[in-house]
Amino acid sequence: MAPEVESPKVAQGDAPVPLSYLRGVDSGVVPHAVSRLRTQRLARSTRPFLSRGGPRGERCDGCRLRPSHCLCALRPQLDTQAGVCLLMHDAEPLKPSNTGWLIADVVAETHAFGWSRTAADPDLLALLGDARWQPFVVFPGEFVEPPGRVVQSLPAPDAALSGHAGRRPLFILLDATWPEARKMFRKSPYLDRFPVLSLHPDQVSRYRLRRSTREDHFCTSEVAALCLELTGHAQDRRAGRVLERYLALFTEHYLRAKNQQPVDWQGPAHRSLQDALSSSCTPQS
Ligand SMILES: [Zn+2]
Repeated sequence: MAPEVESPKVAQGDAPVPLSYLRGVDSGVVPHAVSRLRTQRLARSTRPFLSRGGPRGERCDGCRLRPSHCLCALRPQLDTQAGVCLLMHDAEPLKPSNTGWLIADVVAETHAFGWSRTAADPDLLALLGDARWQPFVVFPGEFVEPPGRVVQSLPAPDAALSGHAGRRPLFILLDATWPEARKMFRKSPYLDRFPVLSLHPDQVSRYRLRRSTREDHFCTSEVAALCLELTGHAQDRRAGRVLERYLALFTEHYLRAKNQQPVDWQGPAHRSLQDALSSSCTPQS
């Protein structure tokens, strides 16, 4: 696949606003892994972060949207067989448009770590060494040396393949701009021992056909949705569909807030998410 890991365009066109001008509003939801990483990152910040967050005002701490457009009541946290491990470049947790946040909203088993060139978080290393998980680094195969590390599919859930048997897939996503992600991939030796999952062009184009945006690049939550669909587990496939529609709903709320339009609570994006949530876990094919 082409370089895909990039933040969505929803925030572009907004004037940069220092985050300190945006007042957080308590959402009452329990902070997830990305939210906690954001809090840690803000605490370390020695200068105000320049956010593309839109006009000055309040933001919900739970979903990062204006309180009038808050999505927290619809946060669809789901249990999955697969897990997601986000390795986030420095400022990613602070960006109001970061979609790794949405993955953590939907996939209960989401882990998030800040990436550093010089040292790996001990908790990250512990997770990668946990025998319950089979990590896969999600990255385009054409940039991988040696190419023998690259896989384009996952073992069937019940397959007794050596090395994978009984382990839950853990998708390691590099949450960064494309140049940053390439650097992270090259300079993280603790990832070198894991297979690299390169999304197959057929899967990518099928996904591209059914999504609503026309962007060439996938954002991080879209990559996660695609990975979840690959596991063959009904729970994961459902979570992938929910994540895809949750991104669409988040984008709609974000844009409506930006354009000072009210939320359309009965609109197609809301119905589409509800349909995915009420669908059975049984795979269609
Ligand atoms: Zn909210």
